[in-house]
Amino acid sequence: MTSIVRVRRSLRVTGVVQGVGFRPFVHSLATSLGLAGRVGNDTAGVFVDVEGPASGVEEFLDRLVTELPPLAAIDGLEVRDVEPTGGTGFVIVASEASGSGPVVALIPPDTATCADCRREVLDPDDRRHRYPFTACTYCGPRYTLVTGLPYDRPFTTMAAFPLCERCAAEYADPADRRFHAQPTACPACGPRLAFRAASSPVPTSWSDDALADALRVLHSGGIVAVKGVGGYHLACDAYRRDAVDELRRRKRRGSKPFAVMVRDLATAERLVVLDDAARAALSSPEAPIVLAALAGLEPTDVDVADAAAPGVGTLGVLLPYSPLHLLLFTEHPSLPGVEPPRALVMTSGNLSDEPLCTDPAEADERLAGLADAFVHHDRPIHVACDDSVVRVVGPTLQPVRRSRGYAPLPVRLPMDAPGVLAVGAELKTAVCLASGRRAWMSQHVGDTENLETLAMLERVATTLAELTRVDVGLVVADAHPAYLSRRWALGRADATGAQAVLVQHHHAHLASLLAEHRVEPGQPVLGVVFDGTGFGTDGTIWGGELLLGSYSAVTRVGHLAPVQLPGGDAAVRRPARTALAHLDAAGEPWDDLIPSVGAADETERRVVAGMLRTGTGCTPTSSMGRLFDAVASILGVRQDVDYEGQAAMELEALAGAEVAGRDLGAWRFDLRDVGGDLVLDAAPVVRAAVRSVRHGVPAGAASAAFHAAVAAGVEAAALRVREEHGTTTVGLTGGVFQNARLSVGCRGRLERQGFRVLVHELVPPNDGGLALGQVAVAATGGGTRRPTSDGRTH
Ligand SMILES: [Zn+2]
Ligand SMILES: [Zn+2]
Repeated sequence: MTSIVRVRRSLRVTGVVQGVGFRPFVHSLATSLGLAGRVGNDTAGVFVDVEGPASGVEEFLDRLVTELPPLAAIDGLEVRDVEPTGGTGFVIVASEASGSGPVVALIPPDTATCADCRREVLDPDDRRHRYPFTACTYCGPRYTLVTGLPYDRPFTTMAAFPLCERCAAEYADPADRRFHAQPTACPACGPRLAFRAASSPVPTSWSDDALADALRVLHSGGIVAVKGVGGYHLACDAYRRDAVDELRRRKRRGSKPFAVMVRDLATAERLVVLDDAARAALSSPEAPIVLAALAGLEPTDVDVADAAAPGVGTLGVLLPYSPLHLLLFTEHPSLPGVEPPRALVMTSGNLSDEPLCTDPAEADERLAGLADAFVHHDRPIHVACDDSVVRVVGPTLQPVRRSRGYAPLPVRLPMDAPGVLAVGAELKTAVCLASGRRAWMSQHVGDTENLETLAMLERVATTLAELTRVDVGLVVADAHPAYLSRRWALGRADATGAQAVLVQHHHAHLASLLAEHRVEPGQPVLGVVFDGTGFGTDGTIWGGELLLGSYSAVTRVGHLAPVQLPGGDAAVRRPARTALAHLDAAGEPWDDLIPSVGAADETERRVVAGMLRTGTGCTPTSSMGRLFDAVASILGVRQDVDYEGQAAMELEALAGAEVAGRDLGAWRFDLRDVGGDLVLDAAPVVRAAVRSVRHGVPAGAASAAFHAAVAAGVEAAALRVREEHGTTTVGLTGGVFQNARLSVGCRGRLERQGFRVLVHELVPPNDGGLALGQVAVAATGGGTRRPTSDGRTH
């Protein structure tokens, strides 16, 4: 007879294990196996003691990691043998006091409404029928509600809503889907909506009546400010051209694209072309905006795209991700026969360039004049969080903005970081906080060109620091002396005694790509870093860079031939000026036939010619973004831009389905060796663009040829670098690589040459991913350490 060996194991589980149904899962697994013990939360994560026959405990450990609830993720599991106590029964114990040690438990991101909650909201017999704040353990807001640690109801903005008897019973029942679901609520005890017309000083209707009033305004073509999960949206019927145009005018948006929230996948597919990956992303718990090529089945659908995203050939669509959004697309019982909208433009509730509004009083004030009506609610948003954006790029989805649904989940680093805070650059910034192998990338912060967005940066950095308890010893910023984020970072370092580190812009881009692919430190990679603007180590503006190296250091082995940028920022807003400079550098006379020249009057030509001749007011730049601007201008696509990257996006769209001819003819970069540097000279390409205009070549064909020429230039340069340095891995990064045609083209050519090619899959190639790279550089001793007093005089 064999005796049954009784064992007891003590487990320490870290990762996303709180507020996601992990303890009930452990409880039911242990109970089903007849094991004894306990499970509980503390700031470090979840602790489990499990006791019983050795075989049962082994099975428990196996199934613990393979049968996790949907939102849970284990990233650390320690198991210790302890002395069996002989106890019986398995219990869930109360959360243990917070303590002040490092936090290992991870706050889950805000998550789209799950299928069960949707069903309840739409079920007339359910007590949560039409309740806009329905959530459970598997869905609903998280990050935007958390005010402190441990992650528990008293430390969320739901603390203000005591649970009613029925909700309390669900909350306390380990068998219930709402066991310890921190955002849970119902119509009897939870938050409610309030509707206010802009003409009324106070709200005039509440709850479901507020929804009816909002739908009336949307139906009549009005603009409604809707408080959602991470902030306010401005919404209007996407099928009402007049409404969309009016929103654009009021928001002073220029022609910058709006995203469109659609009723369902079928509606999405009337507007854009979706593959399986894109459909899966739309329906995922993260529920991002998916940028995809236009489908436009009917003329009315084409109009939607035309009004929402003019000229760029893509449209951003997303599905309703909260019950409130779902109800905006559902027929209202008090509006029989009124068809709910099929699609709503949903744009951030702010004036252009300002942070998102999150608070009703603030929205009333800042969105006055923008909205015809307001749908407020009383569930406070602790920290703002914009929608995320991903783009279909060939077979992969590339992040364009990593925010709601992803933040604040950490990215796993390939090196150990000390406590680091990195603040990104200037545009589209996000901050990153790191410690050990974890790098917490924040939600989208915005363009830190103004003090409002800088205040948002401070708030986000502070919130993340509170939730992670990272002890910051290094504060990292971009090397650009004029960036407000750098000034803020240096001030922060001064105030806290931390060491300030400055990291060159394109080095940080490459490091962010390497970090997300967990490339081992010291393994050299050729970085092809193409973007609009970054401060170079020689004081000029870089942006068409070939960098060879790793996290701690890179060598600039090549670059685009520099061209004078007349007027710096003025040229960034006016591609025609950049084109004049490129024409000048290529030795092309300023012929009126060329659209860039035609767009400039006598005065502008005289001024720009003078600047180029004397160099006064000019900045030399090797920027690939500016070359895209110049070619777009020469081909007559656009002479002025409303937003960064507009000319390049329109140039890409124009190429459409065009295939560049095998023979690129004159569309070729001149690749030469200048004192050991590879220089890609665009002059022949610029001349080819002029010739195509003279010969009446359609702009789409010329654009396709230009894209192919850039990809061929990258291929040729990479082959040279491989010959000389033996480098076999190439990374494509920088904002220019949001261009799907260019990214796919470069990748295809390089892979055919046997290179391993890295592209972004976790963080954006644009400056939204930069802070991750800054962390990786600082963590490996790279960058420039500055005395903390630096920057005070800037
Ligand atoms: Zn749910
Ligand atoms: Zn309730």
